[in-house]
Amino acid sequence: MSFKSLGLISQLLEAVNKQGYSTPSPIQEKTIPIILEGKDVLASAQTGTGKTAGFTLPMLQILSQTQKKKYRPIRALILTPTRELAAQVHNNVKDYSAFLNLRSTVIFGGVNAKPQISTIRRGIDVLVATPGRLLDLENQKALSLARVEILVLDEADRMLDMGFLRDIKKIIGLMPRQRQNLLFSATFSKEIKQLAQGILHKPVLVEAEPENTTAEKVNQKTFRVDKGDKINVTIKLITDGDWKQVLIFTRTKHRANRLSEKLQKAGISSAAIHGNKSQGARTKALAGFKSLDIRVLVATDIAARGLDIPLLPHVINFELPNVPEDYIHRIGRTGRAGASGEAISLVDVDELEYVRGIEKILGETLSSEIIEGFEPTDKPSQSQPDSNNRNRNQRRRPKNSGEGKANNWRNKNRRRNR
Ligand code: AMP
Repeated sequence: MSFKSLGLISQLLEAVNKQGYSTPSPIQEKTIPIILEGKDVLASAQTGTGKTAGFTLPMLQILSQTQKKKYRPIRALILTPTRELAAQVHNNVKDYSAFLNLRSTVIFGGVNAKPQISTIRRGIDVLVATPGRLLDLENQKALSLARVEILVLDEADRMLDMGFLRDIKKIIGLMPRQRQNLLFSATFSKEIKQLAQGILHKPVLVEAEPENTTAEKVNQKTFRVDKGDKINVTIKLITDGDWKQVLIFTRTKHRANRLSEKLQKAGISSAAIHGNKSQGARTKALAGFKSLDIRVLVATDIAARGLDIPLLPHVINFELPNVPEDYIHRIGRTGRAGASGEAISLVDVDELEYVRGIEKILGETLSSEIIEGFEPTDKPSQSQPDSNNRNRNQRRRPKNSGEGKANNWRNKNRRRNR
């Protein structure tokens, strides 16, 4: 399958070629022709599947083929949950529209709105935005959504998790009823289905990969440890395994900072990324992590959302998320697009309950191991049923896993420029 056979025009083929992509990813094969037909799409796809090009390429084609000459109202709106994702999506939009006469921009909070407003005033075709700043600027009459023809909700599940439902509804009310809607989500909860029902018109359902693929290609392990040993276990895993690029998740900003400091004290370069960090600090941390100058990035769930870090070999859940779906998002950061990766969860006695919830949505039991020298002795803070221990702990040292295997569509087809 080639991009040409999907019906893309030459300017887009040229742009795709310039990116070094030779073959469409599975999600792109499915979404591009459907979107070009003008249909609504409900797609299940995680970051790393190539979903952004999956909706951006056909969207740009439609816009360029129906372009009105002088006047440029906002004709396409891409909503994303986080600033990082908005910036990344906009970079893709710019890359893919390099040979088209279309203008785009991105707006998000935390930075001065004035330059954003003046860019929009000059006329743009595609707007990438986070919901809060978009509504701010709309309230100030700095922009109008009255001519939007295509709406994309990217990472819709995360937008709902972050409490953007009301904002999304408000935004929808500002757009014409007649429009094409594309909803991308990593998970399909009841809430997402409800949202989709309210927004999409006869959507075509697209799945990036059969269910459970993420779980299959990620080597998942849990280590039963005491809460107080987690930092030392983390240091041991990274040092013994000589891991060069590790993403670690904590539940709170405070713990992200603390862990990052402890790692640095242990001689492991590290940065924390979370909602209290300025945009500049987040961008700097991410750049350092991508270029391997920083070995460990410690992140909270929300901050990590949408980070574009291809082929991450190691993810550590320093603390398990209390929402099981977040576990899927987290481990989706490793073993992406077909490559293998390792996701390790450090589980203390109070988190056994979370493991159960995760196993339920995964439909499988996670292997549980104990690290020599760090045998757990802790008692539950609240009373926990005996069955939590499950008698399936094995005494084994952690094995170091290999780096991601280069056997996926992206590695085969793309000149990597990291
Ligand atoms: P996404 O899932 O949209 O975040 O994309 C993940 C990564 O895959 C991005 O770095 C894209 O540049 C890259 N990518 C998207 N489509 C292709 C393709 N057809 N071939 C190779 N790489 C791609």
